[in-house]
Order: sequence, then structure tokens, then C-alpha cells
Amino acid sequence: MTVQEESAAAPGGTGQPLVRLTGVQKHYGNLHVLKDIELDVARGEVVVVIGPSGAGKSTLCRAINRLETIDEGDIFLDGQPLPQEGKALARLRADVGMVFQSFNLFAHKTVLENVTLGPIKVRKKSKAEADKRGKELLDRVGVGHQAGKYPAQLSGGQQQRVAIARALAMDPKVMLFDEPTSALDPEMIKEVLDVMVDLAERGMTMIVVTHEMGFARTAANRVVFMADGAIVETADPETFFTNPESDRAKDFLGKIL
Ligand code: ADP
Ligand code: MG
Repeated sequence: MTVQEESAAAPGGTGQPLVRLTGVQKHYGNLHVLKDIELDVARGEVVVVIGPSGAGKSTLCRAINRLETIDEGDIFLDGQPLPQEGKALARLRADVGMVFQSFNLFAHKTVLENVTLGPIKVRKKSKAEADKRGKELLDRVGVGHQAGKYPAQLSGGQQQRVAIARALAMDPKVMLFDEPTSALDPEMIKEVLDVMVDLAERGMTMIVVTHEMGFARTAANRVVFMADGAIVETADPETFFTNPESDRAKDFLGKIL
């Protein structure tokens, strides 16, 4: 059974995709950056999005988090259209965890404060509760002993793991990763990918923009290849990497592999 079928068949499973994009169009002026995007992501599924620079991968992630508006089409999270504003939008941002290439930690807050701020402000958890969960998550990503330090005192790989813990602290329904290891020194890439693989194995629904083929082969259920604003092809990782269908994908893989 595929992940999607399992999800549909699971007790209490709704059968509807956790994330659904239908007919999504987005322009920046004359530039058509998202072209009729159709994408369903099932609960527990890990989708890796790959494609050349400028393909629209970041815009796609930002649209799902509603950091960008779209011109046409619909995006649903758990069957609900994305909220436009106000408290509902703040809740959506909490439900959709996002990890960027740049770690975006608050420089003047400690590692633990970075992780507990959202749960206290948005999820209305008590400080004690947020601290307890925050420490657990920092331990899980391997930086528990750094909780009292400031981001600048950590390596890039450690900071990115804190960023992952911070997103997880909100108990998101889905995690978006936009090239999370692209800004890291090579020796730090694996420690971040290991955390992501662990998360995938725990059943987190994930949309991951990355060129890390090892991660895609280990953790992805599906690879989505984007170019020029469109989804050009979708396949399981093995098929995609060994036998891509489109010339665009063949050309792209020829350059990066
Ligand atoms: P990718 O992440 O695949 O490299 P992006 O989603 O960042 O691609 O960008 C898609 C296209 O949209 C690119 O041509 C980029 O230059 C353009 N673009 C991205 N953000 C903006 C913006 N805020 N204003 C105008 N053009 C943008
Ligand atoms: Mg990008």
C-alpha cells in the first residue's frame, strides 16, 4: 500500500490530503512563477521538491505558509482553505512549520527562548510546559546542552537544528523545508539531514526542497520536479533518479549528479 492509501485507510484517517493545491497560479508582474500547480500531499507523506534555481520552489513553499498570496486556484490544509488574515492566519503559520536556508533565529534570545516563544505566545502554553517540551525537542535534535546559549555561539548545523526544534515546538501538521542545508558547511549537512530523516520516520508530513539525493532516496515517498514555475514530473525517488521521463529532468540531473 502507498502512504496515501494507508493514510486513507487508517482508522480515523479522513482520506483527504493534508495539503492540497489545485489550479494554483502566481505572477510577479509579467513573470509567471507558479503555473497551474496541482499537488496533493497525504498525511505522513514526505515529498521532495527539486528543480533548477528560479523554478518556483520557494514561492510554492511560501504560498503554502501564506507568506505569499496566489492569483488563482486554491490551497487547502487539512480540508480547510488557507485563512486570509488575523488569528486564523497566525494559527495556520503555527500549523505549517517552516525551516529556511537561513536559520532566522532570534539573535537576542537564548536557544531555549527561541523554541518556547511561539508555544507561549501563539499556542498559549505556560512557560513551564513550553520549557519542558522545548528541552525535550532540543535534546531530540541533539542540542539540549546548548539551551542557554545564544544563536551566534552555535555552529550553522546546530542553529539549523534549533530552527527545526522551534518549528516542531508548535506541533505543526506539516513541515516545510526550503533548502535547509544549502547554507551549511559540508560537514554539518549530515547532522541536519539525520534530524530530518528521524522526523520522517516518526510520520511527520513533510515538503522538502532540497538537492540532497541521499535524503530523497532515504526519506522521500515522492519526488516532484519543478521547472519554469510548473510541475514537470512526479515519481518515486528510485524511478526519478534512475529513469527520469522529461528532458528537463534528465538535463537537470545530468548537471547535479
Ligand atoms: P526557486 O526557489 O525555485 O529558486 P523562487 O520561487 O525563489 O524559485 O523564484 C521563482 C521566480 O520568481 C524567479 O524567477 C525569481 O527571480 C522570481 N521571484 C521570486 N521572488 C520574487 C519577488 N518577491 N518579486 C519578483 N520576482 C520574484
Ligand atoms: Mg528557492
